[in-house]
Amino acid sequence: MKLAKINKWFGEKHVLKDVSLEFPAGQTTVLVGPSGSGKSTILRSLNLLEQPDRGTYDFDELHLNFTKSVSRKQKLLLRQKTGMVFQDYNLFPHLTVLQNVTEGPIRVLKQSKEAANQEALEILSKVGLRDFADAYPAQLSGGQAQRVAIARAVAKNPQLLLCDEPTGALDYETGKQVLQILQDMSREHGSTVIIVTHNAALAPIGDQVLHIHDGQLVKQERNQHPADIQSIEW
Ligand code: ADP
Ligand code: MG
Repeated sequence: MKLAKINKWFGEKHVLKDVSLEFPAGQTTVLVGPSGSGKSTILRSLNLLEQPDRGTYDFDELHLNFTKSVSRKQKLLLRQKTGMVFQDYNLFPHLTVLQNVTEGPIRVLKQSKEAANQEALEILSKVGLRDFADAYPAQLSGGQAQRVAIARAVAKNPQLLLCDEPTGALDYETGKQVLQILQDMSREHGSTVIIVTHNAALAPIGDQVLHIHDGQLVKQERNQHPADIQSIEW
């Protein structure tokens, strides 16, 4: 997928300044930069939680020009193809762990409840939370909640997995475990993954590293051999 010449203003504030970025299919991109540089706004633009004022977005056969309005149908199509993991998990508090994971497949992908449940339980096993299927988010630790959030995103089998500071609220060891699960799952599913972080120490895990500063792309690197999570320290 590809964003070209993206501009976004919040009121008077010009937060994305003619940014052009490409995200190679099946690869992991780390989007790194200081707080306030526009990383989340870029990520949120990729699933239209935020709509840029100018620029274009190509995703498979979909071509969006943000100077024109985006239709409901286009939004739905994009939402079907993307999953998102947030820093603060954003689980539905009134739904059980299992219901959190099956919500997308049932509502967005129109899967049957039975099929969605079965697949969700398999994914929950992989993230070590099969026994928590009937628990509610408030009963989980931060690391567990983030693993549910990853399971929920992956259950949609998304072509594009968007992760905004996924370890930001976790302690170091738990953060490492969560990143490891993210890496394993994305390799297994072949998703295109984008990890937003203010922590440059995470850069080695990406096939591609994009440095964002003050709403602009300032540096772009490629890692021939992305690092395993366990081998990095931050
Ligand atoms: P980052 O994720 O790199 O920390 P953000 O994309 O969240 O940066 O924010 C970029 C800039 O846009 C910041 O100055 C932030 O305060 C501003 N901003 C983000 N979201 C909004 C919003 N909804 N309304 C107004 N300003 C916003
Ligand atoms: Mg952010």
